[in-house]
Amino acid sequence: MVAETTLDPNRDDEERGMFRVALRDFVDREVRPHTEAWEQAGEIPRSVFRRLGDLGYLGVRLSQEYGGAGRDFRYTAILVEELVRCGSIGVPVSVMAHAEFATKVLDRVGSADLKDRFVRPAAAGHLIGALGVTEPDAGSDVAAIRTRAVRDGDDYVIDGSKVYITNGTIADYVTLAVRTGPVEAGHRGLSLVVVPTDTPGFKVGRRLRKLGCHASDTAELFFDGCRVPVANLVGEENAGFGYIMSGFEGERLVLSVIACAQMRLMFEEACRYGRERSIFGEKVLGFQVWRHRLADVLTTIEAAEALTHRAIEMYVQGVPANAEISMAKLFSAEATVGVAHDCAQIFGGNRYMEEQLIGRLQRDSLAFSVGAGTSEVMREIIARTKGIAP
Ligand SMILES: Cc1cc2nc3c(=O)[nH]c(=O)nc-3n(C[C@H](O)[C@H](O)[C@H](O)COP(=O)(O)OP(=O)(O)OC[C@H]3O[C@@H](n4cnc5c(N)ncnc54)[C@H](O)[C@@H]3O)c2cc1C
Repeated sequence: MVAETTLDPNRDDEERGMFRVALRDFVDREVRPHTEAWEQAGEIPRSVFRRLGDLGYLGVRLSQEYGGAGRDFRYTAILVEELVRCGSIGVPVSVMAHAEFATKVLDRVGSADLKDRFVRPAAAGHLIGALGVTEPDAGSDVAAIRTRAVRDGDDYVIDGSKVYITNGTIADYVTLAVRTGPVEAGHRGLSLVVVPTDTPGFKVGRRLRKLGCHASDTAELFFDGCRVPVANLVGEENAGFGYIMSGFEGERLVLSVIACAQMRLMFEEACRYGRERSIFGEKVLGFQVWRHRLADVLTTIEAAEALTHRAIEMYVQGVPANAEISMAKLFSAEATVGVAHDCAQIFGGNRYMEEQLIGRLQRDSLAFSVGAGTSEVMREIIARTKGIAP
């Protein structure tokens, strides 16, 4: 059974409320019944992207001119919150890796030609995208990226590799971070280039076996003399680092929202079990120790939501919010692990069972402190932005 409560529905105005209701119905009917199969398969079927595209959900924050709905991030937050309710965190992760991480940056700074070729079909769910930034020797230190794109006539020739790429095995295109300038140029020598995955020389390596988020596939990618037209450059050459960093803001907000919604789900599950299960002749929630523990959990969740909603509002208003987004991501990601432990503990032996939703959610909670920038990187941004220095 899945919880009924969502992340503060009172924040919705009438239009967003209708958007939420329609989404909830869709998730109940067309997503949740299949999540177990997708967890087993290790990926979401392409038909789901098509369906989400048909219903306008993939393009919610993409330009209307290219098939999107042109909404602000508050709609993305609702989409994410409602997808989390399906009980498989891999589902919102995979959908967001496509619509937000890989595609939003093309919509924001790509040429009209790129938008026509990639944003439009991405919004419709005809093409699936992945964002390729992380490399075996360049994770937090994005400026250390080694995958090279060398200009040859009207083409770039790309050589290198990426790791931990969400949607890596199912993607039709990768929005790829490459080095176009000299190594000494550091972050000033990076660009973003769109690489269709049917390009000769592109190869998917291992599908990585993760601890959780099983419905989203994660893979190694290899590029061996991949030739793509210069027209596939996103924005300006050597300006990629800035595009990646500003894209990270949306990605970090997405992860904060997923973490908050997941905590809500775990809390509701814990309350449900505590009301149903009897021990020593009494319901578990009859014990004050459990009521207090879950009161602490709810307080933590509401603090995470408050930080997340503040950051979303600033982001939507166009106010610089790098530190506030990092605070939301840091707090939500770190809180999820403790909340998962507390909520799972009430289940006794059931907390350790694969068949239990709480078991899966516990595992999935471990990814948040790493994806889209680790907790240590978040602390670094907060300290730098807020002048915490000697
Ligand atoms: C499930 C999953 C999905 C992912 N999907 C994608 C994807 O779609 N696309 C993509 O490009 N990447 C993806 N990633 C990669 C993710 O963004 C990186 O794992 C992350 O940025 C950290 O990089 P790293 O693993 O190389 O760790 P490292 O950078 O090697 O970090 C090692 C340790 O050092 C710490 N550290 C870093 N900087 C500092 C500092 N300044 N001070 C102190 N400590 C520091 C880190 O916090 C960490 O604890 C995914 C990862 C996971 C787990």
